[in-house]
Amino acid sequence: MATQPSREANPTIDPGLALATRGLRKSYGSRLALDGLDLSVPTGVVYGFLGPNGAGKTTTMRVLTGLIHPDGGAIELLGRPFTRRDRHRLFDVGALVESPAFYPYLSGRDNLRALAASGAPTPARRVDEVLEVVGLRERAGDAVSRYSLGMKQRLGIAGALLDDPTLLLLDEPSNGLDPAGIVAIRETFRHLASLGKTVFVSSHLLAEVQQMADVVGIIAAGRMVREGSMQELLVSEGIVRVRVEPDEVTAAAATLARLTAPDRVTPSVMEPGWISVQIAPDRTAEVNRSLAEAGIYASGLSSGNDLEELFLTLTGDAASTDPDGTFAGIDPSLGRLPSSEVLS
Ligand code: ATP
Repeated sequence: MATQPSREANPTIDPGLALATRGLRKSYGSRLALDGLDLSVPTGVVYGFLGPNGAGKTTTMRVLTGLIHPDGGAIELLGRPFTRRDRHRLFDVGALVESPAFYPYLSGRDNLRALAASGAPTPARRVDEVLEVVGLRERAGDAVSRYSLGMKQRLGIAGALLDDPTLLLLDEPSNGLDPAGIVAIRETFRHLASLGKTVFVSSHLLAEVQQMADVVGIIAAGRMVREGSMQELLVSEGIVRVRVEPDEVTAAAATLARLTAPDRVTPSVMEPGWISVQIAPDRTAEVNRSLAEAGIYASGLSSGNDLEELFLTLTGDAASTDPDGTFAGIDPSLGRLPSSEVLS
């Protein structure tokens, strides 16, 4: 039988966290969407919640905002347990999950006024303040039916900011925004974090998260695969990629595993011959030397700490076994080589 989220504070959850989950589980019928998800979101940061399509990001957001109930696990919001009886506490939380619903015939400003009237008491000037923050002040009098997708998205973010929440939960907030809009929203989130607020943002835009987030959590198949400060992740979780002859991959992987650990060495399924090694980029020469000492000569070598490579490595297995997983892109046998490749 499914367990209900505990009402007791979970002793393993650090009280300094703005948001935490432990062992969060959710299935839709026979499809497991969240498989024991553990999240730890410190107070006053922008947290980038990353995962490939179908990883469980929206499901997590829906659970955290009380739209659906988990089958098991514990949630703590702003230092206190959050259960199905606690939806009223969401006044402390601003959220944008899925497409925001607005009255199309009302103006942006009147939509926000209607939203403000349905929530906690809000000073009248707050509507114009949040319109200013998202850059919609000029068009606030236009009917929402005349807004572009990106403008509707910005109005949704304005709605999430209305109650001046201490915690913001935003599902793919950059959706539909043009590059200038993405930069503006990123600056807004950074500003909110500098005021001590916590901004939890899901995204599949890796470069975006890399520029915006202090802390990142990467999920795949409903589980956390890596969580930590962006800085640490980039420094300590470098990736070195080597290319060897396809029939040397097994021997090369065994040699490389001795440099790190077997679970940090991943032969590529999509690009036969390429092997990713999770290792600090400054050990690239060591990688090359250890292969040479084993009589294996790399024909390609690249290194970096690009989040995209890390993301693909960490989520690759889950994505390749999940029918909803990442779109694999163009068949690599067509001759595409990694852009960062350095031929030795
Ligand atoms: P995306 O980046 O594509 O939006 P996501 O990380 O937000 O993906 P979810 O939407 O949470 O992922 O989906 C997680 C899993 O749950 C997927 O396998 C999805 O097919 C499944 N799922 C989501 N919603 C439902 C639903 N209402 N009914 C059945 N299965 C669902």
